[in-house]
Amino acid sequence: MNKVDNIKSSENKCKNQRCITQTEKYVPQSFKLLDEKNKLYICEYCDGENTFEKF
Ligand SMILES: [Zn+2]
Repeated sequence: MNKVDNIKSSENKCKNQRCITQTEKYVPQSFKLLDEKNKLYICEYCDGENTFEKF
């Protein structure tokens, strides 16, 4: 399993406005780490790229 992080903080939401996590609040955030240096994560629902500074 390649899943690295399960993001629970509501601050770390997927930025893709069409992503299911934007409209369905019960859906837990789930991201895969793509680039550790650039803090780049891929949303598991929409494959959208997100950067999170807080990790
Ligand atoms: Zn997403």
